[in-house]
Parts: sequence; C-alpha cells; structure tokens
Amino acid sequence: MSIHHKVIIIGSGPAGFTAALYSSRAQLETVIFEGMQPGGQLMITTDVENYPGYPDGVQGPQMMDDFRKQAHRFGAKSIYETINKVDFSQRPFKMWSEKEEYTADAVIVSTGATARRLYTESEEKYWGVGISACATCDGFFFKGEKNLFIIGGGDTAMEEALFLTNFGEKVTIINRSENFRASNIMYDRVNKHPKIEIMPNYVIDEFIGEENNGIKKLTGLNLKNTKTGKIDFFEGGGCFLAIGHIPNTQIFDGILDKDTTGYLIPKGRSSYTNIEGVFCCGDVMDHVYRQAVTAAGSGCAAAIDTERWLSEQ
Ligand code: NAP
Repeated sequence: MSIHHKVIIIGSGPAGFTAALYSSRAQLETVIFEGMQPGGQLMITTDVENYPGYPDGVQGPQMMDDFRKQAHRFGAKSIYETINKVDFSQRPFKMWSEKEEYTADAVIVSTGATARRLYTESEEKYWGVGISACATCDGFFFKGEKNLFIIGGGDTAMEEALFLTNFGEKVTIINRSENFRASNIMYDRVNKHPKIEIMPNYVIDEFIGEENNGIKKLTGLNLKNTKTGKIDFFEGGGCFLAIGHIPNTQIFDGILDKDTTGYLIPKGRSSYTNIEGVFCCGDVMDHVYRQAVTAAGSGCAAAIDTERWLSEQ
C-alpha cells in the first residue's frame, strides 16, 4: 500500500522549504522529505550574514529551523526519511524511502548539491575554523589575513580567488596539476592580479593549525610538490576548497534531463523538468549562483509553477 500526498518535495534546504511554504499556503497538501541532511548545506555553516531580513546575521541551523517553522505553520509536514528511488513514468508519481512507498500528484525536486571535500583527518579537524567550501559565504571572516589559500583550478577557484582579494593581503591558488579547467578569461584575470599567486603541481599533504584554550585555528598548509615529492609548510589562516560540487541527482538517472556534470536542466526560465508535473529548484539545477537566497527564490517559483500546473489538470 502506498501513501498518497498532493505535493511531495524532495530535499529540505532553502529551496525545498520555500517551495513547501508557498505550496502549503496555496492550500495544497504538502509534505517535504528532509533526507540525509535535514536543512541542507546551511546546517554545516556558521554565521549567515548575507540573507536579507537578518540584519545581525543568523546561525545556519537557526535559519533552517525558522524556514521549517514557517512552512509548518501553513500545514506542510516534514517526513524524516530519504527518498532513494523514484518512478515518474506514470501518474501519480511513485517514490520510495527505506520504509514506505509514496505517491504524489506533483513532485518538486530540491535535493541540492554537496561540496566536494578531501575527507582527510586534518581537514576534519579544522573544518569550519579555517577551512570552508564557500568563499562567498565565509570570506568576510578572514578580513586582514596575510594569506588565504584556494584549492582547485576551475572557474569557481578563479572566481573565489578574485573575491578573496577583498579580504586577504594575498591569495594563493593551489592546483594539483599544470592543467587548469578554468576558462582562459578567468585564468588570465587571476594571473594578472597583483595579490594572487598561482602554485600549480601542489597537493595538500596536511592542514596545520594550533589550539589555544580549546579554540582551534588553521595556521597553514603542508603542501606536497607533485613533481619532486618535496613537502613544505606555507603559512595562511584560511583555506577554501573549490574542487567542485556534486549535484544530488543520482536517483534521477535516466529519468530527468541532466547536463554533463549531473545538474538538472529546467525548461527555459521555469522550474519545469522534462516530465510534466515534476519541478526542480535550488542548487540541484544551479551551479552558478548557489546562494541560499537564490535557492529560496527558485523554490518559490517551483511552488507557483506546481500550483498553476495542478489547477490546469
Ligand atoms: P570544476 O570545473 O569541475 O573544477 C574542479 C577543480 O577542482 C579542478 O581543477 C580539479 O582538478 C580540482 N579537483 C577536483 N578534485 C580534487 C581533489 N580531490 N584534489 C585537488 N583538486 C581537485 O568545478 P568548478 O570550478 O566548481 O566549476 C563547475 C562548473 O561551474 C564549470 O562548468 C564551471 O565553468 C562553472 N562555473 C562557471 C562560473 C562562471 O561562469 N562565472 C563560475 C563558477 C563555475 P583536475 O582538473 O585535476 O580534475
């Protein structure tokens, strides 16, 4: 026996909760599957200072709790399960969690993306106290630092390096080879910048830091030259990983249209996917802006598209 809902939202970041708020407030019976990481990527950030409406900033987990409360106020319900299989070939659409089979008249996909990490012991130790995966979010906290590192050689690394020149006296880009994936125009801009140094052929051997009275702080990196194998210490108080994001779209393989990097492709400027009645919003379809506020905006659009589509049926 399956459990039916009018609207099912898969994923509980700013996009999913905003979609849930608009959908439930439009009197559509709505559930949101909160998945593996209830609240999404903001649960692992600290201060959020760039979300409008919070003049003094807000802690990421607190903000997601506020998002959830506001959606619940209009009747949206959270289900703390992960959808791990879908069948969108007929209506109602079918979905399965580890426990139940669910059906829905309309589905909003807001499963987000996960920043790629290195998953080493020293990275774990200094994560959030000197290491971050988002310069736009956390760069400000490193104002006045002598040196900031960026890891990666793609457009994100170039863009974030330029952004970090507003805060650090110097920015050092570490790339694991001589080949940069970044577009020529971005690479040239970085290469010409007086505050940026580029170090190709280096990988992180270890994040180094210190601990005083229980407060941990990154102080630099042990970098290994991939050509010579030599390891040297380089000083710097902040390190930003820009080694790509992985959109959480594996369960939609062969079902929803994706680009070559796995992001969902909405139709035109709408939130429609290639399957009528299935909509998408947030980072799962946006590798460019990736901000809480842009994700929330697209969640609103997805709920409006869903409401209009359902009323046409
Ligand atoms: P990306 O192009 O996939 O680049 C990832 C970078 O991280 C590569 O240099 C890669 O090195 C490196 N890397 C991956 N895993 C690593 C590891 N374990 N250790 C060290 N380095 C590692 O990712 P992105 O820069 O986030 O860009 C994603 C997409 O968004 C691209 O299509 C990009 O053009 C686009 N984008 C566009 C703009 C813009 O137009 N303004 C801005 C940002 C992003 P290897 O090359 O050796 O694999």
